[in-house]
Formats: sequence, structure tokens, C-alpha cells
Amino acid sequence: MAKKKREKKVKYIRGHGISQARLSYEIHNLKRYQNLEHYKDVFYQCGKCGTCRTVYKDAYWSCVCPSGEFGKFESYYLGGKNLLVWALTSNKLNWTKKVAKIFYQCSVCMACIEQCQIPEIHSFAGEWLMAMREEAVKLGYGPMPEQQLYTKNIMEEKNPYMEKHEDRLKWLPSHIKQTPDANLAYFVGCTSSYREKTVAIATAEILNTLNIDFRILNDEGCCGSPVYMTGQVEKAKNLAEKNINYFKNAGIENIITSCAGCYRTWKDIYPNKFGFDHGIDVKHLPEFLRSKLKNGELIFDKELKMKVTYHDPCHIGRHMGIYKAPREVLEKIPGIELIEMVRNRHNAWCCGSGGGVRSSFKEFSAFAAKERIKEAKETTAEAIVSCCPFCLNQFKNNIENNEIQAFDLSELIRKTIL
Ligand code: SF4
Ligand code: SF4
Repeated sequence: MAKKKREKKVKYIRGHGISQARLSYEIHNLKRYQNLEHYKDVFYQCGKCGTCRTVYKDAYWSCVCPSGEFGKFESYYLGGKNLLVWALTSNKLNWTKKVAKIFYQCSVCMACIEQCQIPEIHSFAGEWLMAMREEAVKLGYGPMPEQQLYTKNIMEEKNPYMEKHEDRLKWLPSHIKQTPDANLAYFVGCTSSYREKTVAIATAEILNTLNIDFRILNDEGCCGSPVYMTGQVEKAKNLAEKNINYFKNAGIENIITSCAGCYRTWKDIYPNKFGFDHGIDVKHLPEFLRSKLKNGELIFDKELKMKVTYHDPCHIGRHMGIYKAPREVLEKIPGIELIEMVRNRHNAWCCGSGGGVRSSFKEFSAFAAKERIKEAKETTAEAIVSCCPFCLNQFKNNIENNEIQAFDLSELIRKTIL
């Protein structure tokens, strides 16, 4: 009976993502999003078994930790980081720039945490990885210089790309039809606005084709994910407050976003970390499109003969538990053949763009991307498909000699309905 219960719990975590786990460890009374003190009785439970280095089952014990595989030293894996957390919080080790770098040279992709079989670590290690970044910021060891630079631009120009806020809507073609009093907003996000504009155009065109009343708010600013993920909680909270007030005052009740990072930030970080119960219903594009497929409103007119593989973005996968919706939509496109990579769903290898690493640890970030591209090619797929403009941008920047194509799911859908 006890065994049955345990199986149910594990399945629950896998099905809903670590961020959604609601396991109650009554013995420790653990909650999410607390400070280091709250977790002090559990991070020392790490048994240094090394299980967090490779996939626990299903994928031939493939490596899962970009930080460890690049750093090639125990401190970069979760087990080593746990030991560092323990040593730093029990005054056995002092903070230094080098120690801070170990915590920042990690994309907080959570792949390690999925593998660890210690229940408290499995569900809560992500909390102290983030709490260590907050601590580094408080003590002046974080964020990294490049992260400070993009944060300055976010606070002044509402985007991390050193672009002007006034140029944010330059991607928007005149044929996109918006409904001025719609209570549904398309939250575009910085990467689609400035770097992967085809994702923004495809999303807006899909919404138009489906006759959805929506609008794009012209003073939309960065959701704050790159600021929050680098431990700068107060600044990120400030951005969240501004965004929420702006959207609420405009009468927005529903948001659709095509960005995995924006989705998680609005849906999880704003209410659960910052305590802003904004009441806006937030959906990630594939979730929304799956419902339109199910009710027959989304019809694919054209065939798209292509072998593809799907990359799970960490922010909607492990962080939010969305694995099925993108696959269900992708597989319904006529002519598409989906071939999974060895490391998929909760075992997916991170593309290496998140957690602030792409700006500050370029070599590490490229290493992670190239490893994923190699794995995608091994499937014999012609293209790697994701549903996050940041992942897309990362793949495009690291694909060499057209070895494989990269698309956002929205771009493929657009090809089949327009
Ligand atoms: S974090 Fe978990 S899997 Fe990794 S070494 Fe510690 S106990 Fe083992
Ligand atoms: S969060 Fe990702 S990069 Fe960081 S230690 Fe875990 S697996 Fe490695």
C-alpha cells in the first residue's frame, strides 16, 4: 500500500512539473520560494551519490547537467552545489567570486533535480539554487557584470537586448488586426519583439486566422525573467508590479504568450514568489492552440512534409510541467513526423540560454546548445522545433553550415494555415 502511494507521488511530480509539485513534507514543513534558512535541514541530506549527473532511467544514463559536463568538477553538479550551500550557510566556507561563479554558471534548468531520488531535494533543490543567487546579490557577489549591464537596459528601456523601448513594436506588420477593447492580450516578450520577430508575426497571424479578439499593449515591458533568474528579486518584483498594473488598468483579463520564460514568470513567479495575485489567466500558445484543435476551430489546410524533433524548453517543461500540449499540436500537423531525442520531456538537455548564462558564460552556453543540436541531428530529423523564442534564437546562433533547421512551433503552424 505504502509503495503504491509513493509511486503516485512521483508520477504527480513528473506530470505537473517541479514548480507545480504540491507534496507535503510534513516532517520539515517545506514550502516553495523561501529563504535559505527554511531549507537548512534538508540540503545536507544529499548523499553524494552522483545520480543527479545522469538520467536516472529511460535514457541510457545520458548526462543531464550542462554545468557539470562543462565545468568537469564536482562543484558544478548539483551534489557539489549542495555541499557548497551547506558549507557557506554553516560558516565553513566564505563567499568568493569563484564560489559565486559556480552558482551562476548553471542555467537552473532543473534536469539534475529531476534525477535526484531524495524527495526533499527532488522537489526543493531549485529553491535553494535560486536562494543562493539572491544571497550572492545581497552580499555583492552577483549578478555577473554582463547581467548587470542587461539589467540596466531592462530598467531603463524595458528589454535586455540594448535596444530602445520605442522600437519594441517595429516587428508588427500593418495587416495584423487588433481589437482595441479586447480583454485578451498577446504578451510578446523581448526576444520575439527584437530578435525572433517571425515568432511574434506568426503568433499574431494565427490569432487573426482563428478570429480571436486580442490586442498588443504598446507599453509592454520585459516580464523580468532575466532579472529574477539572476537573483535580483527586488528589481524583478518592481518590473512585475509595473506590468501587472499596466495590464490590469488596460482591462486585460487573459494573456497568451509564445515565450516559455514570460509564461512561467506571469503564471508562477508573479503570484507564487512575489505574492502578486493578479487574477489574469495566462496561457502558453501551444496550450491555447491545443484547445482550438480539440474544438475544431484550428484546421491545418496544408501538408508540411518534414521529420522533426521537439526540444522541451525548461521554463515550460520542468518548471511548469507542460510536455504534452506542444507535442499534441505538432503531431496533428499533416505530414509532420515527430522523432523524439533520447533525452526528452523531464530528461531534456537544456539549450543553454536561460538563467543568465548566455550573456555571462558564452562558451558554456554554446557548449550546451551544440550538445543539443548534435542530439537532434542524431534523430535524423530535418528540424528542431521548440516553443520558446529564446531556445530558437539559441539554436539559430549555434547551428553551423545549415546542419539542421530550427523553428518555433508557431512558425510551422503559420505555414499550414496561411
Ligand atoms: S543531489 Fe541527490 S542525486 Fe545528486 S549527489 Fe546529492 S543525493 Fe545524489
Ligand atoms: S540546474 Fe541544470 S545546469 Fe544547473 S546544476 Fe542542475 S542540471 Fe546542471
